[in-house]
Amino acid sequence: MAKKWKHLLGFRCTCCGNCCREPIVLVTDQDIKRIMKHTDQEAKDIVNFYKPSEIEWSKSKPGWIKFKKGRRIMGLRRNEDGCQYLGSDEMCKIYEHRPITCRRYPYNVEFNGKGQVDFLSISDSVECPYELDGENDPEEIKALCDWEEEEENPYNDLVDKWNESEKSKGKKQFLKYLGFD
Ligand code: SF4
Ligand code: SF4
Repeated sequence: MAKKWKHLLGFRCTCCGNCCREPIVLVTDQDIKRIMKHTDQEAKDIVNFYKPSEIEWSKSKPGWIKFKKGRRIMGLRRNEDGCQYLGSDEMCKIYEHRPITCRRYPYNVEFNGKGQVDFLSISDSVECPYELDGENDPEEIKALCDWEEEEENPYNDLVDKWNESEKSKGKKQFLKYLGFD
């Protein structure tokens, strides 16, 4: 039976910039390291810590960090126009070094028992005026998802360990804990 999602492999971004303006992009310590290498920014200027009221990210999902002021989640720092790396030409200023989430976007992917793409959809988190005259390789999409998982899992483990500590701590200490002075 033909897979109903196959046509979505033709996704082509029209560079409208909506997905860089609207959502908060969650990042890991590895994303920060890559960005730091290619900018002169410190970790504290790359990220921000967002309150549950600022993001549609369930409290039951991983990544919430326990601070003395309450739970926060780490994402790319934004300015009044959205992501701080979105240029006035709607292009990403750190494209080669952007977080993995940005690379995998807008695909949501499910895999079968053999690790093959079983289902694929286009995120509807923002209005995305895409075209379907492109070409995307499911193997490349899978490799991105694997990469994302390889970095997210250890990061979430670090967050869990941090959260287990009873000490009352703040954002500066958290970045230090991740290895950023
Ligand atoms: S890092 Fe680049 S691709 Fe990711 S949200 Fe920001 S501008 Fe967009
Ligand atoms: S919202 Fe869709 S079309 Fe617009 S920049 Fe993002 S992926 Fe591309």
